[in-house]
Amino acid sequence: MELQGKSVSQGVAIGRLSVYAKKDNVVKRERIEDTEAEIKRFAEARTKAIEQLKGLYEKALKEVGEEGAMLFESHQLMVEDLDFIEGAENIINQEKVNAEYAVARTGDTLAEIFANMEGNEYMQARAADIKDVSNRIVSVLQGNDDSGLNATEPMILLADDLAPSETVQLDKSLVLSFVTRGGSSNSHTAILARTMNIPSLITVDFPDDVDGKMGIVDGFEGKLIVDPDEALIESYKKRQEKEAEKRRMLQELKGKETVTKDGKSIHLYANIGGVKDVADVLENDAEGVGLFRSEFVYLESDDFPSEEQQFKAYRTVAEGLAGKKVIIRTLDIGADKQVDYLNLGNEENPALGYRAIRICLDQVDIFKTQLRAILRASYYGTISIMFPMIISVDEVKKIKKILAEVKEELDEASVPYKDVEIGIMVETPAAVLMSEELAQEVDFFSIGTNDLTQYTLAIDRQNAKLESINDPHHPAVLRAIQMTIENAHKGGAWCGICGELGADTTLTETFLRMGIDELSVSPSKILSVRDAVRNLDLSK
Ligand code: PEP
Ligand code: MG
Repeated sequence: MELQGKSVSQGVAIGRLSVYAKKDNVVKRERIEDTEAEIKRFAEARTKAIEQLKGLYEKALKEVGEEGAMLFESHQLMVEDLDFIEGAENIINQEKVNAEYAVARTGDTLAEIFANMEGNEYMQARAADIKDVSNRIVSVLQGNDDSGLNATEPMILLADDLAPSETVQLDKSLVLSFVTRGGSSNSHTAILARTMNIPSLITVDFPDDVDGKMGIVDGFEGKLIVDPDEALIESYKKRQEKEAEKRRMLQELKGKETVTKDGKSIHLYANIGGVKDVADVLENDAEGVGLFRSEFVYLESDDFPSEEQQFKAYRTVAEGLAGKKVIIRTLDIGADKQVDYLNLGNEENPALGYRAIRICLDQVDIFKTQLRAILRASYYGTISIMFPMIISVDEVKKIKKILAEVKEELDEASVPYKDVEIGIMVETPAAVLMSEELAQEVDFFSIGTNDLTQYTLAIDRQNAKLESINDPHHPAVLRAIQMTIENAHKGGAWCGICGELGADTTLTETFLRMGIDELSVSPSKILSVRDAVRNLDLSK
């Protein structure tokens, strides 16, 4: 039997299939008289749940690192969330019902709200977390212990969906792969699979009776094969060996320079969306962070993240990188990245609309809060600031004036900060055409090939219908990149690429011949790009 799903982590796994059936807490609605005592029971259960989550945090920290552990911190915040607490208390008070019922209903309601946030996959994936948290409190209230999944031999784990607290309790050395019926590429199971570097599939509609049978997970093609014959198992074993060999060879590049055979070296940095990605950056031996998409700090928040909240995130990343360079890009919100609290409304052409630096220069308070947070964090590492969607020299002059004002405010308050390099994203044709003048104003350029391709070719990067003609290798895009690099150097600025094209190893030679100084790619691509650079000889 062959079942198709979607791969969220590549690789091949061969082993016994183990279907995990969740024991759901059965929650009965019971009438109670003493609502005060019930509210007290609820409070005590929350305290116990927090203790459990602290324990899970410590366990995860040891086993899967900061990234895997962070979510138990966020679960603790959910337990303490006022909407959640008040929602359940109101049900207890108004309907005179037991805490188990009130908690389960509040959890269901909140999870449904999150699940319905269309277009926001991150928030949709959080619905599973809320259910997980409310189940935990219900279990405590019911006096059930916190037993997890038990595996005694290596297995391919199949489940409807896996809650983070379930996955963390697994003996990781025995899990060969995760396959779920539900899930999303942003679900924690998918993140965990990528962190553990094991294949993982989502949206596979498997029948329960596959439990105990042999199976193969093909994380390249997104397939689950049940009861494969010997010949198929053999051919997949060969594929596994090939992959392992490739990985081993790439691992050997850790600690090595990103330099061509004839001695031309470039900086190889990683792109990240937040604190949780730092472990991957270090694990893959990136030289620093070339693009921190700071808007994720905003997207993950229900309201404007405060200066303190932002400061904490930037400082944690800077400290995590221990002195290596971290380029923080200021808020690049709008178009495909929306948050409710900004009230941006609908626009005819959002990609050409009110977004990124345009918002920051219009709503200067938002901009200044972020700049203050970044400058304060600069004291704890090596931070550079980069500005997105630039189209003119005038914008850069305005930005520099605002930055100087923020520095003055910090000086007056005796708040320490370090000198920071400043740079711009070159991702509009206007910035390319003005690159000679722009280079006089900044320390560096980073070419955003995702948007540069969109605006140069006039092809909406979100439109699936245009996928076949959306060609980032188009000569117009490559010419724009070449022109930007030349003009950067003329003006004394260095120039990198942080768009997806930077990781395209078929172009590595082209970029190096153009004189690129830096490539910033997703952490998992670092070693393969280093490999491509080290195989080049530009003297030939
Ligand atoms: C780009 O446009 O290439 C880029 C790196 O930024 P984003 O993908 O976040 O727009
Ligand atoms: Mg962009």
